[in-house]
Parts: sequence; structure tokens; C-alpha cells
Amino acid sequence: MSEYDVVVVGSGGGALTGAALAAKAGLSVCVVEKTDKLGGTSAYSGGACWLPGSEVQQRAGIADSTEGARDYLAAILGPGLPSAQQAKVEAFLQTAPALVARLEDDPDMEFEWLPFSEYYDAPGRVPFGRSIQPTNLKRADLPPEVAELVRPPVERDRAGERGRNTLSGGQSLIARLAAVVVREGGTFRTNLPVTGLVTDPDDPGGRVVGVAAMSPEGPVRLGARLGVLLASGGFEGNDEMRREHGVPGDPAWTMAPRGTNTGEPITAAIAIGAATDFTAQGWFCPGLEQPDGGGSFTLGFRSGLMVDRTGRRYANECLPYDRFGREMAEAPDRIPSWFVFDSREDGRLPAIAMPEGDPAAHLEAGTWVTATTLPELAEAAGLPAGALVETVERFNGYAATGVDDEFHRGEDEYDLFFAAGHGPNKALSSLDAPPYFAARFVLSDLGTKGGLVTDAAGRVLREDGTPISGLYAAGNTAASVFGPVYPGPGAPLGSAMVFAALAVDDLAGQNTSGQII
Ligand SMILES: Cc1cc2nc3c(=O)[nH]c(=O)nc-3n(C[C@H](O)[C@H](O)[C@H](O)COP(=O)(O)OP(=O)(O)OC[C@H]3O[C@@H](n4cnc5c(N)ncnc54)[C@H](O)[C@@H]3O)c2cc1C
Repeated sequence: MSEYDVVVVGSGGGALTGAALAAKAGLSVCVVEKTDKLGGTSAYSGGACWLPGSEVQQRAGIADSTEGARDYLAAILGPGLPSAQQAKVEAFLQTAPALVARLEDDPDMEFEWLPFSEYYDAPGRVPFGRSIQPTNLKRADLPPEVAELVRPPVERDRAGERGRNTLSGGQSLIARLAAVVVREGGTFRTNLPVTGLVTDPDDPGGRVVGVAAMSPEGPVRLGARLGVLLASGGFEGNDEMRREHGVPGDPAWTMAPRGTNTGEPITAAIAIGAATDFTAQGWFCPGLEQPDGGGSFTLGFRSGLMVDRTGRRYANECLPYDRFGREMAEAPDRIPSWFVFDSREDGRLPAIAMPEGDPAAHLEAGTWVTATTLPELAEAAGLPAGALVETVERFNGYAATGVDDEFHRGEDEYDLFFAAGHGPNKALSSLDAPPYFAARFVLSDLGTKGGLVTDAAGRVLREDGTPISGLYAAGNTAASVFGPVYPGPGAPLGSAMVFAALAVDDLAGQNTSGQII
């Protein structure tokens, strides 16, 4: 049996942050990845990291601070947080700037401020956001093994294509962290799904001392002298678990790479007594339905409107995507919804869909329909024509006055971030350029966010609140520090990275409880 100081399960942003810091601390590290590629959903991501109060924002002249972020989180998470969650929130806030400084100390890591509005109008919100992202880098500058292993962006990965020569966003984050792991002597084991946890039979506390995995040659075990960090995504790809926990949506519509994130490590931890929380939660979003039945994360609607099966709008289409996704999940006649748009962008979707897909293929498959009049469009989409015409007429009235009386579209900073209209309200453009289109939308997600209960040091806890010795979790494997709330761009990655860092410090015996130096 191979043995390491630390075994990290998964290779997303949290996993590789933990692996890089562990390797830099002189520990032997093995990253165990189920697929033949590194990065998971994190590699698909924009690479935004919600890590408030760091030097990066200060360099860019952004008025961000830990105190401001504390106010913001207090306002959006609400009063009466359980003390254990409050302790994690505080650990997150204290650790975020120190983690960024620690990462940027490394010659292979560099971040910049990313203008992207936060998701709630609440005290402490920073205009145009407090997120940061890794700077771009060239594939040719990467160690060859890393250059080959980074999972391509979603539109290329789903099409079986290679990644680009310039890596940005999540691509850059994964590549940079993986390069640090390689440079510091860490090991990557790909095509090795973890199937279970190994506990010490002689330890009455059931200390975790390794993982069981299934290699192409058969079952293997990897020992972990100091601990195992589970950072292997959520269970968004597992239909049975989604149903069991009541997560709305469908594995076919999730954004996790196909066949990944089916939750075996979470199940393995539960089997040795781990507690779970927020298990019905995901990072939700509207998903453009694809001809193959998949969903595409869509945000930043520039024009058009969304209707349910009755032909009526039900929310502000410019809401932050997780909030819109939650509106979709509110009623059964909203999945699928139809997004109705006109030809002002020459028959392309007036939004950012990852991936959008080919409009002609959508039209052929019926995931999009088109017509020169709205009643014909309604008929093609199976919507009540009278209701759709009335909805569009009312919406065009809002575009003329600049005021959306029903859903207040265009009243918040976030609504205007992607808006491109020319009328009195940039987020409200009338639908009046035929032919018209309707695109079918489902409820997608960027991963589930309920999972193993952890403490402020990333330790996995039992129902009675005691830690399972040797076992840590971060990212979507763990119950989110933010519960059901998505504070702003980069919250999934930022929180994954912080708790992975805290976990590694704890298992390395540097229990700093939120104070990484
Ligand atoms: C298009 C897009 C853009 C996004 N943009 C952002 C953004 O800018 N900022 C942000 O914060 N979030 C963003 N997100 C969301 C974010 O990417 C994910 O929620 C987050 O990266 C999940 O991280 P994770 O480490 O928990 O899981 P993942 O990144 O999915 O990593 C999990 C890894 O574990 C592996 N694995 C699973 N099971 C096993 C097993 N049994 N054994 C071994 N390995 C296993 C998987 O193969 C995968 O490689 C975006 C998502 C998408 C799709």
C-alpha cells in the first residue's frame, strides 16, 4: 500500500489549494482523481474567488475589508445563525485575506480584481464586487504533465476537444495550483475513483488512515499518515442521492463534468458516522436545455423575458443566477420555462450560456422554436397564445417607461451589470424585432452544496459534534459555510479554498483556527 502524509480526494479548486499548501509545507501529498483530467467543475468555472479583504482588492483601489464582508454576510445570512456556522463564517473571513497573501507569495500564483457585482443589495456590499481571479497564463509555460491534465473549458470538454493555449479563469486556477503541487513533489493519481475510507482497526475512535479506490487493475488502498481531505465535489451527478435529499433539478442538467461528482466520498464518510447538513441545497442557475438533454449555465440576460408554462413571467430575469434558479424551483410549471427573445442579436441568445450550442441545432431539435409572430411562437412552444401576447405587451410597456412594476428588473446594480439596452432602463428592451424565438430552460446547478458537517478547521464532525479524527472536507463535499445563500461571484471556490487551507494546517499540526500565517 502506498502511503503519504496527506491524501486529497478530488482535484478542484479546494482540493488543489489544500494539496499545494500541504506540499509547500514539506508534506508528502497524493491527489486522487476519479477521471483522467484535473479540475472538475472548478476547471469549467470563471475562476472568480470570493475572498474578501485581500491585498488584491487593495491594489486595485477597491474599498473592500473584512469588516465590510462581515456586515454583508451578517445581513444576507440573517440573524440567529447556529454558533457552529457563525464560527465557520468568522474563520472564513479571517482566513480569506491571509490565504490570498500566502498563495501570492508563491511565484506561480497571481490574482487580479474581477469586476462582477455581488448578489444582494445589503449593507457591506462593494460596488462591482470584491471577487478576485487568477491571471491568465500560457499552456506552453506549464509543466507538460499539468498542460495535458487540466480539464478543458465546458464547451470544449463536452465536445471532446482540447483546451485553449491561453488558460483563463478556472483553467488558470487549476493549472497554477497543479503546477505548484508538481513543483513541490506532490503526486497525482488520475483514473482512480475513491470508493471508501480506511479506518484504523486498533483505534477506538476510528481514525481515518487512508482511502480505498478502484484502479483499472482492481481495488487499491492509499495510506494517509496525517489525514484525508475529501474535496471531491457534491452529489449533483447522482440521481438517487438528489431524490433522497430533495435537491431540485436533474443530473442531466448539472454543470459538473459528465459522470463525475456522484457523491461516493460523502457516502463513505456517512458510513463511518459523519453528520450532514443543507443536503437539499445547490448553487442553482437557469440552464439552457441542449439538444442532447443537457443544461447550460446561463446568466446575464441582455434582453428577452422568461415565462412559465402558462405564458407568464414569474421573476426578474436579471436576478443573480442562483436566485433565479430558486425562483424556478418554486413551482412545477416553471420547469421547463421558455425564454422568449427577438432578433436584435441576429438570432443568438441575448445572454451568456456555457455552452450556448448551435442555434440551428437547437431549432432542429425543438429546444428552440422560432416564428414571425408571437401567437405562432406560442403555438410552436405549446404556450397559451393570448397569455404570451399579453405578457410581451405588458413587458414592452415596462421597457417604454423604464419601470418593471411586477419584478423590478433593472433596479439593482447586478441587473444592470450585463444590460445592453438603450431605453430609459438598460435592463428593459422591448421585444419588437421579429422573427421571435423561444428557448427551453431547465433548472441547472453548479453543484450541490450540502454535505458533510465540518468545523472551522475543516474537520468532519459526527452528529454529536465530535470530529472524526483524520478526516477533513472542503468544497461541495462539505455543508456550505453559507448554507442556502450564494453571497457573490466566487463564493463556491473561495469557500472551498479557505476550508481546504484550514484543513491542511490542522492536519499538519498547525492548528491556527482561522489564522494562517
Ligand atoms: C461555467 C461555470 C462557471 C463557474 N464559475 C464560477 C466562478 O467563477 N467562481 C466560483 O466560485 N464558482 C464558479 N462555478 C461553480 C464552481 O465551479 C463549483 O461549484 C466548484 O468549483 C466546485 O468545486 P469542488 O472542488 O467542490 O468540485 P469540483 O471542482 O467539481 O471537483 C471535484 C473533483 O472530484 C472528482 N471526484 C468526484 N468523485 C470522486 C471520487 N469518488 N474519487 C476521486 N475523485 C472524485 C471529480 O472528478 C472532480 O474532478 C462555476 C461553475 C460553472 C459550471
